[in-house]
Amino acid sequence: MFVRPTRVRGLHPTVGALVFLAASCAPAAASVAQQTPDVDRALVERVINTLASDDMGGRDAYSPYAVRAAEFLAREFAAAGLQSPAGAENYLQRFSTRTLTAGEGRVIVNGRPLFPNQIAMRLGGGSINWRTGDVPVIIVGPDDDVLTTVTSVANAGFDALVLIDEAHREGFGSLVQIFRRPVRVLSDAVGAAVVLGLVTAGPDATYQVSHTASDVMEPIANVVGVLPGRRTDEFVLFSSHYDHIGFERPLFGDSIGNGANDDASGTAAVVALAKHFAARGTPERTLLFAAFTAEEAGGFGSRHYSRQLDADQIVAMFNIEMIGKPAASGPNTAWITGFDQSTFGQIVQQAANGTGYRFVADPYPSYRLFSRSDNVTLARLGVPAHSISTTPIDTDPDYHRVSDEVATLDMAHLVSTIRAIARAAETIVSGAATPTRVDPATVEN
Ligand SMILES: [Zn+2]
Repeated sequence: MFVRPTRVRGLHPTVGALVFLAASCAPAAASVAQQTPDVDRALVERVINTLASDDMGGRDAYSPYAVRAAEFLAREFAAAGLQSPAGAENYLQRFSTRTLTAGEGRVIVNGRPLFPNQIAMRLGGGSINWRTGDVPVIIVGPDDDVLTTVTSVANAGFDALVLIDEAHREGFGSLVQIFRRPVRVLSDAVGAAVVLGLVTAGPDATYQVSHTASDVMEPIANVVGVLPGRRTDEFVLFSSHYDHIGFERPLFGDSIGNGANDDASGTAAVVALAKHFAARGTPERTLLFAAFTAEEAGGFGSRHYSRQLDADQIVAMFNIEMIGKPAASGPNTAWITGFDQSTFGQIVQQAANGTGYRFVADPYPSYRLFSRSDNVTLARLGVPAHSISTTPIDTDPDYHRVSDEVATLDMAHLVSTIRAIARAAETIVSGAATPTRVDPATVEN
């Protein structure tokens, strides 16, 4: 299913040779090219054309197409000169999510079994088997607001049984619909289970609740690489997501969401930046590169990734999202989400001074983009983690549509943006600048 060492070499002799080089004589390779190399436009085009081709079937993280995309990127990470970090196998950091689907279960209150249409369950993982006294009982009286109560219980993070007065019968059906939707979680995540019963009862009600969820494990993988620096406990992370939305409603016969801008463009940037920095020899800070999976499905790739290392050691995260179209703020500009959440934006702005390229604050605050991409997972851990984008997202007709194709991208703009990010990252990579941390309390949930 995934790349194995022998297959890498067998498939692509050049890549095999480079893997060997990177592993055995990195210092010698580094001394060959001390000058700042340019960003490799041919490489950018190859990565984006490959990822956004119909052969990649829209790269839904849970499809075989994502495996194909990950294998391709693993070869690119090797060719760029990255090492495969601890915990990954040939650049693939594998993990699983699980999908929990609640059935009807059985709820008995005060000795009387409830009918299926009186029961709704949200599962936290595994099965439920409660007897009186096991969990708190929350009563929603005839005059209470059902939605407010249920929402606050669901967000509280503990197992609970909510008994809703039968006066609320009419609205209960829609709660059942919401609660019966399958829930996808990281495989080791155990959340709280909340069971709703439509029954008039008091807080001293006796109960029995039992349920076994349908629980399906789904293997997926991030593509990860490392360029070890002189400082082995200070990391700068460059990331994107390689997954996309898969197949969509057909438009003129086309049903593949190619995701050229979202986020093959950012992923091409990550590969090109890897090659750029690797060619310059050992950096001061250790550089991490990640193409995350399952961003579109709920950010599972970055969530898993953030648990594999100490977030306190990540000095900055450059998350690159949709840089294939020029920004509304003009050519040679890019915007940074959560600009005021740390000094990352100011540092990047200063480092880009004199390059003819400008970084500005995200002009779309109402879109809440800071909390809508993989950066937010790291930001919640205090990392100055921001997304860099150029897309005019308020008017982009191709966003999350089958028309997000390579032909709609401005390749010269894309390459100049990657070049600008390489320059703008300079002071952080060299250790000359360190952004302030994000205060997790200020990050939206
Ligand atoms: Zn995206």
